[in-house]
Amino acid sequence: ELYNKVLELKGNIRVFCRCRPLNSEEIAAGASLAIDFESAKDGELTVVSNGAPKKTFRFDAVFGPQAEQADVFQDTAPFATSVLDGYNVCIFAYGQTGTGKTFTMEGTKEARGVNFRTLEELFRVINERQKLYRYEISVSALEVYNEQIRDLLVSGSQQSTMAKRLEIRQVGEGMHHVPGLVEAHVSNMNEVWEVLQTGSNARAVGSTNANEHSSRSHCIHCVMVKGENLLNGECTKSKLWLVDLAGSERVAKTDVLGERLKETQNINRSLSALGDVISALATKSSHIPFRNSKLTHLLQDSLGGDSKALMFVQISPNENDLGETLCSLNFASRVR
Ligand code: ADP
Ligand code: MG
Repeated sequence: ELYNKVLELKGNIRVFCRCRPLNSEEIAAGASLAIDFESAKDGELTVVSNGAPKKTFRFDAVFGPQAEQADVFQDTAPFATSVLDGYNVCIFAYGQTGTGKTFTMEGTKEARGVNFRTLEELFRVINERQKLYRYEISVSALEVYNEQIRDLLVSGSQQSTMAKRLEIRQVGEGMHHVPGLVEAHVSNMNEVWEVLQTGSNARAVGSTNANEHSSRSHCIHCVMVKGENLLNGECTKSKLWLVDLAGSERVAKTDVLGERLKETQNINRSLSALGDVISALATKSSHIPFRNSKLTHLLQDSLGGDSKALMFVQISPNENDLGETLCSLNFASRVR
């Protein structure tokens, strides 16, 4: 509750910047660093070019290459768990392909990311509150690819027999829903792990190049929470969205044709639509353009109002990536 007070005071949109370490190939190639983390604890990072400071950015938190998954989650947890207090929450990972979006959200078996840690923390808090509240949790896993929604909890063979496309429907004032999307009820971490794995495995199916596919689609988990206050019978329903966005790298339009061009345009459209929505929310604009992409339309109920949004801007430390890094940092400054 103390956390939530702090969040209210500071507004409902947070931006964290996370920089991956140089990888072994970059080290072998003698890559130079383009980022200075000296003021990271004050939420600042400075972009350096040819050894000279170029531009300083401020964020709600900056995580350098040494930051561990647990460090990142420590600052994310109060945000994520506010879904148990009835808040709708969106957590995004934005950035160029290869900067650690999937590492931050999904993580690895040895270094689990925000998705797994969030569910773990939710169950811990639920257990702590069991005398006062009863909660029910279910999880959906979906992908938005080329402005189409695919259910990642439905196996490929079942999917091809599904006649209808998944579409977003408005089912009431400020209530959007995707009829037919699987909502898996989970009551412990084993069940959560199974759902997360099923979703993760389904992502690669049906594409010739799994990496390329994942860099061109948004991978989304939705955690739905029903809460009942056992003292007064009051019920809440809220959603937490965990979104591993498509790669933000610019692809020169002259380099791509046909299907690839359509894909690129759809990615650019949905990421800029997301930027437009978040900056409209940040400036308290009266018109929020939710309908400009599937992604923002889907998340509409959980962006704005009392909702909370957290964006991880993922960057590379390599000077060779400086162009894309500056684009991502500028995008993030715009939404903050
Ligand atoms: P993206 O999803 O943005 O394309 P990935 O999450 O796949 O990027 O990360 C690319 C590679 O870098 C992966 O091998 C990943 O494990 C590694 N990586 C990313 N961030 C970190 C980090 N903070 N610490 C260690 N390895 C990382
Ligand atoms: Mg990825």
